[in-house]
Amino acid sequence: MPQKQDYEGQCHCGAVRFSAHTDLSGLGDCNCSRCRRLGWIMQSMPEADFTLLSGADNLTTYHFNSEMIDHLFCKTCGIESFARSSDGKGNVMYMINVNCLENPPKVDREAIKHWDGANF
Ligand SMILES: [Zn+2]
Repeated sequence: MPQKQDYEGQCHCGAVRFSAHTDLSGLGDCNCSRCRRLGWIMQSMPEADFTLLSGADNLTTYHFNSEMIDHLFCKTCGIESFARSSDGKGNVMYMINVNCLENPPKVDREAIKHWDGANF
């Protein structure tokens, strides 16, 4: 198993900043109507491994379909650097947009899991 490391990321303008403690071993993308437009690569983690460093008051939320996921966007630059959801057992989960990390890690695109969100 890869080791967990501390990563920092932000939206485009820098108003929204976060840190994440993760091993980036579960990278995924999704073909649902929203994700295919966004083109993000996501990594999920429990709430304890995610910290919003700044920008809480600069976020706006978008919901669609089952409204299970809080898609959180920077009000200034429009970038969704992370989303918030539940694991189905009542635990808060965060999904970071790996493309928003500083010094983005080299992503092995072959290893990305493809969620068939279009057919959920
Ligand atoms: Zn921004």
